[in-house]
Amino acid sequence: MTPIEEIKQRLSIVDVVGHYVSLKKSGRNYKGLCPFHGEKTPSFMVSEELGIFKCFGCNKAGDIFKFIQEIEGLEFPQALKILADKAGVHIESEYEDKFAKKKKLLFEINHLSAEFYHYLLLRHNAGKIGYSYFVDKRNLTLKTIQEFKLGFAPNSWDLLFQYLSKKKYVVEDMIDAGAVVKKSTGDGYIDKFRNRVIFPLVETDNKIVGFAGRGLGDEQPKYLNTSETLVFHKSQFIYGLDKAKMTLKNSTAVFVEGYMDVISAHQAGFKNFIAASGTSITQGQLKITSRYTKDLIFCFDTDFAGVNATYRAVELAEKEGLNVKIAALPGRYKDIDELIKNDKKGVEDVLNNSVPVYDFYLATSLKKNDKTSAIGKKKIVEELTPLFSRISNKVTLNHYVKLLSEELGIDQTVISDLISRKTAISASEDSPTLDDDKILNIYRKTPEAYMLALLFKAPLDNIETFMYVDGQNTLNEKYFSNDTYKELYRRFSEFLSGEKGNFDIKYFSSNLPVELQKFTEELYLWDLDYVAKDDKLFKKEMENSFQRLKDTYVKKKRQEISQRIKQAELEKNEKLVRELTEEFNELS
Ligand SMILES: [Zn+2]
Repeated sequence: MTPIEEIKQRLSIVDVVGHYVSLKKSGRNYKGLCPFHGEKTPSFMVSEELGIFKCFGCNKAGDIFKFIQEIEGLEFPQALKILADKAGVHIESEYEDKFAKKKKLLFEINHLSAEFYHYLLLRHNAGKIGYSYFVDKRNLTLKTIQEFKLGFAPNSWDLLFQYLSKKKYVVEDMIDAGAVVKKSTGDGYIDKFRNRVIFPLVETDNKIVGFAGRGLGDEQPKYLNTSETLVFHKSQFIYGLDKAKMTLKNSTAVFVEGYMDVISAHQAGFKNFIAASGTSITQGQLKITSRYTKDLIFCFDTDFAGVNATYRAVELAEKEGLNVKIAALPGRYKDIDELIKNDKKGVEDVLNNSVPVYDFYLATSLKKNDKTSAIGKKKIVEELTPLFSRISNKVTLNHYVKLLSEELGIDQTVISDLISRKTAISASEDSPTLDDDKILNIYRKTPEAYMLALLFKAPLDNIETFMYVDGQNTLNEKYFSNDTYKELYRRFSEFLSGEKGNFDIKYFSSNLPVELQKFTEELYLWDLDYVAKDDKLFKKEMENSFQRLKDTYVKKKRQEISQRIKQAELEKNEKLVRELTEEFNELS
């Protein structure tokens, strides 16, 4: 057994996760409010048997190691250490050595790749187009280009691959570093980044963990990132933090949207600008930032998507106990980069005028709606009361209630009343009653998957009603049209016939090919508590579900046969027509 397996065996994932999230038993699983995204109705599921978690809201999923990494903002070895100590498992230094050796290799490859791209940008003909992009279009100086080690990946299939091969790196390590990928057809390997300007992603210890490449033509996607590797974890990475970290110790961190925003800001002397990729800041990124400063300014585009992303980011930041202010760009600038280039003083004004989030909410809502009309007033109140209801400090709350009442000319008590009602609702949502119908509808949308999810948890005598009784009603793999589900069902029924009367999900899952394992784990985490609590209900749900599979199957089959009958009629093959008609009628 590897140390990892041993740790997993000794520790209960419910205990480990339960340390951070309050979990409630739900059928065979546990559920709670997801710690990774703001939610009021639990969609975060944990399976003790499988040792995994999954949030059906934000799709974060994994085992105990992944959980500790994500929630503590750690790399795998650190998470391993914490859990090994907790489990009392000794980690062989040989194992650590192997891990460290591999990481060292990946860093070397990243370092060489960065040098290679940087050289091409500055010294090679092929890089001219990239150089012109940075200098002419983005107004970067040579010094800035060197400081950020910007580069260019030319429009060739395997230039980097050949270069690294010459340096005696093996293709396996190149793939693990994310530098090259396997060709989608045929043999061979190609560079991951082609015809793109390159932004090396540098960690706070100055090591290069990955790359982002921006397409210069109509490459899709416009921005391409290194995928997750042993050394690159997107949800934990903050662009520019390597350069900002010293400044941040005694200043505010300014989060902007893009890599170029950060670079332009640094060139203009704003050394405290950093970026998550895009506007979706993660808990891990906030945790890391909070090691340097507790004061944040979010400076995102104020279009609709930007504002919504800001709400989410603020919610997460408040959870981390960070002080968040919002800086609003003057409307005539499309992003902060443009403002930096045109009006350096303007940037300072924007930052100085940044406001607490609730002022920002207020201003945004007032700008969007017409506060002089009754409908406008109603909309503003509807938008703001749920947001204000989150303010726990009474003095602060009173401040905003007063502001809003003055702006709208509405009595303060009316607004207070609405807010306290909202607070009461959200408090009661903490012990939520799931909207079963809604959830059921989501599951029922994929009837084949739903059938399997039910089977995995069904009491065995229920299963037998469907699977082991001879006759037309027997559930059969032919009713599954999706190949994955068909295969999963086949293996499930095989497993049961071998195990008679015993179904161990872990044992079942561990004997499946990896891709089927994933489906199984996901289906097992579906929250079927509403039926699992009640045998009769469960049976009924299975019957309905089975009937739907059958109906779909019969309908499809009938269409097929009708087609063939038409064909046979055209060919005047009466015998075949008779046979097919009989077959058609026998379907039920
Ligand atoms: Zn979530």
